[in-house]
Amino acid sequence: MKFGYRETCLEHKTGPRHPESPDRLRAIRRALADRHGVEYITADLADRERILAVHDGDYVEEFEEFCADGGGDWDADTVAIEATWDAALASAGLAEWAAEAALDGTDGRQTPFSLGRPPGHHAVVDDAMGFCFFNNAAVAAQSVIDQGKADNVAIFDWDVHHGNGTQDIFYEDGDVYYASFHEDGLYPGTGHIAETGSGDGEGATLNVPLPSGAGDAGYLAALTELLQPELVDFDPDLLLVSAGFDAHKHDPISRMRVSTEGYGLLTQQVREIADETDAALGFVLEGGYGLDTLSESIRMVHEVFDGYQPPTDDGDIRDAARETIDDVKAELGRD
Ligand SMILES: [Zn+2]
Repeated sequence: MKFGYRETCLEHKTGPRHPESPDRLRAIRRALADRHGVEYITADLADRERILAVHDGDYVEEFEEFCADGGGDWDADTVAIEATWDAALASAGLAEWAAEAALDGTDGRQTPFSLGRPPGHHAVVDDAMGFCFFNNAAVAAQSVIDQGKADNVAIFDWDVHHGNGTQDIFYEDGDVYYASFHEDGLYPGTGHIAETGSGDGEGATLNVPLPSGAGDAGYLAALTELLQPELVDFDPDLLLVSAGFDAHKHDPISRMRVSTEGYGLLTQQVREIADETDAALGFVLEGGYGLDTLSESIRMVHEVFDGYQPPTDDGDIRDAARETIDDVKAELGRD
């Protein structure tokens, strides 16, 4: 794969006990060091205009001043220092690169994956939260639409948390389809089945709040039975994966039990959906807090694009996950 990366993103330092640390990127780079076909690409900082296309001007100014004054605790778990401003612009710029590269035809073994931090999917129109300042995937999606490079974009968010920010930004927008698979009951508590968008965006938001322990079988069933038919109908020009790896079975903060091979199977299925809908495909890093599981899982995504075929999952789907998937199907009128 082509990985978007900038040292600037290491400068956003969050303190010694914060799970969203620069060590995440270092661990990923180490895990990819001996891999065949890994290429690193740098990208420009995002233009202010691109940030302002999805975020409120007053918020952007307040965040800039907060950093210029040395930063501090924005909220209980979101911290900034002076260098966070540039890191946030770099992270958004890398996501833009991934979207543009994908639309320019960078695919197959070259498929783009932006390794930016801070992550983005909790950042709402007018606020930072959940370790996120600028909504990188949202900036990227809106940017390619505004530049006329894509008519519509789908964002599939497989991070274990609901991407409330991405949902918020595009809730009334029919040009960006937002889908989230997340652990029911985790932070930030949004992402219920009945949240399906409104106005022009009615039907362009999909939430699958899976019960703990859903595992590979639950995720794969949700992908093939729910998201795949939805995206075939939506027919996106670009499919961006908001790729967090905190649903991993050894991640310290969740109980979803997705395996490393499971991320490989999800990747393969996402690729098939992109092929089927003739959409460009790119990945944008979100969460993932076990350094080993995060880096192993990204290596797995890379391996799948490099030709590795993960063994088929033959586990049974658990009753509770089946129930959620059937409930979402009923909401979609697909039952
Ligand atoms: Zn997360």
